[in-house]
Amino acid sequence: MMGDRNYRQTITDALKHISSDVAPKIDPEDKKTIHLYEVVRCLRRSYYDRTDPQESRTNKSFNTLIGPLLQKTPYGSKDREFSLGEIKLKGQVDMIVDDIVFIFKTADEELQDPYASDILYLNACLWIYDKVEGIIVYLNKKGGEFSFSLVRGQNMFEETIRRVRVFSDLLSEKKVPILEPSPECTTCQYYEKCFIKKKVGSTLSLQRLIGSSEK
Ligand code: SF4
Repeated sequence: MMGDRNYRQTITDALKHISSDVAPKIDPEDKKTIHLYEVVRCLRRSYYDRTDPQESRTNKSFNTLIGPLLQKTPYGSKDREFSLGEIKLKGQVDMIVDDIVFIFKTADEELQDPYASDILYLNACLWIYDKVEGIIVYLNKKGGEFSFSLVRGQNMFEETIRRVRVFSDLLSEKKVPILEPSPECTTCQYYEKCFIKKKVGSTLSLQRLIGSSEK
């Protein structure tokens, strides 16, 4: 806090406005329109986001804002729908240049391989936009970038379609998807719903326990 102004609160409010403005608009009641980003991550998390949402601790991060902000620029891409019979799958890439699809992400360190959810997302977008090649560009805090290219694969897209159908059915039947334990859980706002309370008070050291039993 400086003077009478609470700058931390002002920054938090500003980021909240930006993230809610760029976030995909999802109608929780429309169980036949599924957004691609809902099925390339934990289905249980996406289910809670529709049925009993809690604010995410990570949705104001640069990683989640960069793509949607690029989509708003004149070079940005518009969203598209892919029909799966009665279900519509919606996706949006960040940019298309020379028929190559781009998505932009951030990464703290250089990755050996792209994140699985990013591959699934890009691959599905290649089918949704009817393109063959795509690139995931990771930007790091030091201003560097590294990228991975991908040629679309049918088996991977079929797996995404299977997840879309499962998610739509579970929403219609009001059934909570199974746990999908992964590193994502540690930053997930639903951790305590899925597992246990994170804080259990002060920890007891083995040495203290032995000491008290010897008295
Ligand atoms: S804690 Fe893990 S399993 Fe539970 S909703 Fe979040 S990401 Fe999914």
